[in-house]
Amino acid sequence: MSLTQEQLSEIEAARSTPRPTLRAVSEGMEAHLYRAHPVLDHGFIRVVDYMGDDAAIVQAARVSYGAGTKHVSNDEGLIRYLMRHWHSTPFEMCEVKLHVKLPVFVARQWIRHRTANVNEYSARYSILDREFYIPAPEQLAAQSTVNNQGRGEVLTGAEAARVLEMLKSDANRSYDHYEAMLSQEGQQGLARELARMNLPANIYTQWYWKVDLHNLFHFLRLRADAHAQYEIRVYAEAIAACVKDWVPLAFAAFEDYRMGGVTLSGKAIAVLKRRLAGEVVAQEDSGMSKGEWREFEGVWG
Ligand SMILES: Cc1cc2nc3c(=O)[nH]c(=O)nc-3n(C[C@H](O)[C@H](O)[C@H](O)COP(=O)(O)OP(=O)(O)OC[C@H]3O[C@@H](n4cnc5c(N)ncnc54)[C@H](O)[C@@H]3O)c2cc1C
Repeated sequence: MSLTQEQLSEIEAARSTPRPTLRAVSEGMEAHLYRAHPVLDHGFIRVVDYMGDDAAIVQAARVSYGAGTKHVSNDEGLIRYLMRHWHSTPFEMCEVKLHVKLPVFVARQWIRHRTANVNEYSARYSILDREFYIPAPEQLAAQSTVNNQGRGEVLTGAEAARVLEMLKSDANRSYDHYEAMLSQEGQQGLARELARMNLPANIYTQWYWKVDLHNLFHFLRLRADAHAQYEIRVYAEAIAACVKDWVPLAFAAFEDYRMGGVTLSGKAIAVLKRRLAGEVVAQEDSGMSKGEWREFEGVWG
């Protein structure tokens, strides 16, 4: 993980000067606050600030339900009820601000999640560091033969070595040229905002990313999922580990209903009912397409 000495000192200083507060505090999240969790070869995520806890979700929900919450009187039950019924606004009462260091090609996927606030490192203003994501050998895989949007067998031997060498030498060559093109003493050179354009997509960038818990769960549902690309999934998993400590009840409900659950179509429910009644149902008479059937069988066997 590549934190500068200055960043490390800032983290140390922030963690060594706790102040009393009247605000809601999550003990689990306090343990993460400011600390950087390494991701990939040079990346990290770290919680810079947060607002709210499980109680904040419950507190907001009770405004809308008032005395009507008696039948789900415990906090865990109420949070599970909210998650189950997609009553999402109480989860928006919690927010988190993260500092993330990530490769540019991961940032391109991440930025598609529009319901967050972002402020990115400016490569118009500052010079980017010579830091590139180079996959670990076990991630150096060929195109999948069954999934157009995925990877298959891991490369080995001479082919793995050749690919790794190309990734490293291309990145370094581009960076050498970037440096050589920059305006600096002895040459007029190119402005930073232009010189950066030949840099590869595996160079690292950094941003602050602030999001509420409802939209963070949506992000995690999509990006901590097995279908997400490994390089963004590991970030989502690192964030999920912090969220689990921050709002344990909400995270448990999310894991159960969203990560662990499946959405059933009307056709799938009909097939399940027929099967429960003892009927043997095949794809051809299920009303489902081959793709749908494959996914259905993947869950129900
Ligand atoms: C496995 C995977 C593969 C993908 N492949 C591709 C791909 O090939 N090409 C590609 O371009 N993208 C791809 N994406 C990105 C995907 O299409 C979404 O852009 C991304 O996941 C963000 O989701 P979102 O829009 O729901 O999130 P957010 O932007 O956070 O939005 C959350 C929700 O807010 C609402 N919302 C936000 N903004 C608007 C708006 N302007 N109008 C209406 N409703 C809005 C929607 O209900 C949305 O679901 C892929 C994503 C995944 C997870």
